[in-house]
Amino acid sequence: MPDSATAGLRSRNTRALALLSLAVLWTAACSSPVGDGPGTDPTAAPPLPGPEDGSNTSGEDGETSGDDEAAPPGDGPLGDRVVVIDPGHNGGNAAAPSEINSLVPAGHGEKACDTVGAESANGYAEHEFNWELSLLVQERLEADGATVILTREDNEGVGPCIDERAEIGNENEADAALSIHADGGPESGRGFHVITPGEVPDLTEEIVEPSALLAEDIRREYLEGSDIPYADYLAEDGLDERTDLGGLNLSTVPKVFLEAGNMRNPEDAELMEDPEWRERAADSIARGVATYLLRN
Ligand SMILES: [Zn+2]
Repeated sequence: MPDSATAGLRSRNTRALALLSLAVLWTAACSSPVGDGPGTDPTAAPPLPGPEDGSNTSGEDGETSGDDEAAPPGDGPLGDRVVVIDPGHNGGNAAAPSEINSLVPAGHGEKACDTVGAESANGYAEHEFNWELSLLVQERLEADGATVILTREDNEGVGPCIDERAEIGNENEADAALSIHADGGPESGRGFHVITPGEVPDLTEEIVEPSALLAEDIRREYLEGSDIPYADYLAEDGLDERTDLGGLNLSTVPKVFLEAGNMRNPEDAELMEDPEWRERAADSIARGVATYLLRN
């Protein structure tokens, strides 16, 4: 029986922790002298908060109560960065087969508009998991100043189709785009993987390299923060390069898919069904995206 006040407090604390780690990362990245010998790797910098961190972490002063603690867009280490988060599938897809089975452009071919998605043995639907996790990641990135755009506005609708999801990242000129999914693999296989765009002539050449960096940053943080290992039934060391996904082929901005775990596997599903785990998972995903954004 969750106590909403306690849950709110916990969520605030978690967010503050995420913020602090980002502030440290930001300070380290900004204060590393370029080309200064062996110390140039920002991840190797000592994790000591600098004197400037106060501007990012002392938001309690004069703050009114309420849930919306996000800094105004542009205010924070991720200011002026745009992130598109694409929560895979949608809650109304199963009831709209003709719409989601219609064919749409997928880059050198056509694919179904969308699919229904996976589900755990307990009936926890992937579209719901994707939606809930996406909101948590959005909250964290916005708290650090990023402008975050979701590809759908709730978990009740149908679609949008895969080509429209890619277009939302393109037209907003996103600095990074992330599709959040969960897999429906074999019950005996567990783990997560990150899907990156492979080279498709005349389509993905420009995004292959930056997307691989984005994938690396998310993979590293998610492995550490989620307690879910690399997938043991597909991909390699948690990475899978693909050229058959419209959502990647049609993207003109760096983009990856996170398959956050295998919903058919009891161990993964138990974690994914746990709201507290989702908070931690969102922390790690936001750290991964932020690390990528601060590379430039
Ligand atoms: Zn999916």
